[in-house]
Amino acid sequence: MRRRDLIRAAMGAAAASTFTNASAWARDIPAVTLSDGETTLTKADIKAFAKGLNGIVLRPDSDGYDIARELWNKYWDLRPALIAKCNGVEDVIATVNFAREHDLLTAVRCGGHSMSGKSMCDGGLVIDMTPMNNVDVDVRNKIASVEGGAQLGNMDRKTQPLGLGTTAGVVSHTGVGGLTLGGGMGRLQRRFGLAIDNVLGVEIVTADGKMLRANEKENPDLYWGVRGGGGNFGVVTKFFFRLHPMNQTILNFFFSIPMEYAKDALKLYFDFSMSAREDVFAMGGVSMQPDGTGNARISGNYFGPFSEIDQMLRPIRNFGKATVDRVYPMQYVDVQRSIDDGVNAPGRRRYAKGGFLRNIDEDLINTIVDGMEPLPTRHIGVGLLPMDGAPARVGADETVWAHRDALYNIDSTSNWAVSDSDMDAQNISWNRAYWKDVEPFLGGGFYVNALMDEDQGQINSNYGHNHARLVEVKNTYDPDNFFRLNANVQPTV
Ligand SMILES: Cc1cc2nc3c(=O)[nH]c(=O)nc-3n(C[C@H](O)[C@H](O)[C@H](O)COP(=O)(O)OP(=O)(O)OC[C@H]3O[C@@H](n4cnc5c(N)ncnc54)[C@H](O)[C@@H]3O)c2cc1C
Repeated sequence: MRRRDLIRAAMGAAAASTFTNASAWARDIPAVTLSDGETTLTKADIKAFAKGLNGIVLRPDSDGYDIARELWNKYWDLRPALIAKCNGVEDVIATVNFAREHDLLTAVRCGGHSMSGKSMCDGGLVIDMTPMNNVDVDVRNKIASVEGGAQLGNMDRKTQPLGLGTTAGVVSHTGVGGLTLGGGMGRLQRRFGLAIDNVLGVEIVTADGKMLRANEKENPDLYWGVRGGGGNFGVVTKFFFRLHPMNQTILNFFFSIPMEYAKDALKLYFDFSMSAREDVFAMGGVSMQPDGTGNARISGNYFGPFSEIDQMLRPIRNFGKATVDRVYPMQYVDVQRSIDDGVNAPGRRRYAKGGFLRNIDEDLINTIVDGMEPLPTRHIGVGLLPMDGAPARVGADETVWAHRDALYNIDSTSNWAVSDSDMDAQNISWNRAYWKDVEPFLGGGFYVNALMDEDQGQINSNYGHNHARLVEVKNTYDPDNFFRLNANVQPTV
């Protein structure tokens, strides 16, 4: 049994014990170190640490520990030694210092949507940023300052009533922290670029416990690194985003097409989305239920004059196979939370693979559709997002995002019930095999935020020509690889 497993068992026992919250502080607790060794956190150390925070520290036997360790992907059931709910920059600094001084394996959590569970850990310490979710808008200069634990919905709800917006993801309970640091794709990207293309600067606590500003003038190498390098360089306590004037009411469209026409529907999606004006954002996909029923879908938004929509959607209507054809005006802020539930709601076990398309052909479409097969407990969905427009106009070394030449982002996600853990192996190996068939058609690389089980070699080469520069930034700001639970850039010093 590995040390980490032993400590995990101890965490479970502590949680199951009948100690009250008050008496919980009367015990030492075992913990895991950065190098997967074992250490002990004494009750005195923990008490002193907790006393110094504005926020709270949760131990395995604290009320609220089980809720705080939950992630969106219920495949992960991880039990950290401590969860520090940080409430202010000084809390983040104190927590980083405590973790470093005790050599603790450390995770950073914002929205908890990491598919690979990187924002939680067994036996280590979690820097939980969720209490830090404030958003301020400087209307005159069109800048939003957003704390590092905010969700996308926190940001949209503040900026939209002011007629301003910036690119964020398509599900409002996703964290600004993780989404932005890895790139950040969303409904506004064809017009305004990725989330990282709108980051004007950050405030960040680095591994030495210092709070730094990173922007064009201050620490420009770090500013470059945080735009696509994930959580490798520190804990971002505040993001500064460029905002854009935009209409608050936009058009939402959704077409569902029966599975038997899925291949033609995907071809139509590719033709439609690539030829569409930049004020159209169209997502495509195919889904299959456990019983083998399924559909293809073309959905998205139009940000231009409402009178033009019928003409715009004519190719989809002329196709004539949609069984659901819905077009309606909606507040952008509501569009942003319109698919929060259903397949995107937390509460299921998941496995996903992702990549980029640089070429579309018939064999790819056939492989996507023919490869889908029903399994007794799992739902499978393939999703597509266009990568042309504003993201493609940014240079491949201006930010860490090395895939500016991609035409589409593609992913395949399997999900099954929390209670069906006995199906994990079957569902995961099916998704891996499916992806093995799709992968030869992709142009290489994957979205940093879609990291699943790629090895270090794949992670390095995914950063492409930017990897060497990332290593330099890592050597400067995190030479001991304190922030390692991410698409890790390994330091060489
Ligand atoms: C339902 C769903 C919808 C999604 N939709 C989109 C989408 O539309 N567009 C898109 O681009 N991606 C999307 N994603 C992927 C998403 O970008 C990643 O899952 C991302 O990691 C989520 O960030 P988070 O803060 O919620 O996650 P967390 O699990 O909390 O964090 C993920 C990682 O980010 C780092 N991190 C988080 N906050 C900070 C911080 N303040 N400082 C330093 N490091 C930090 C840490 O390394 C952490 O391990 C979606 C994911 C899900 C589950």
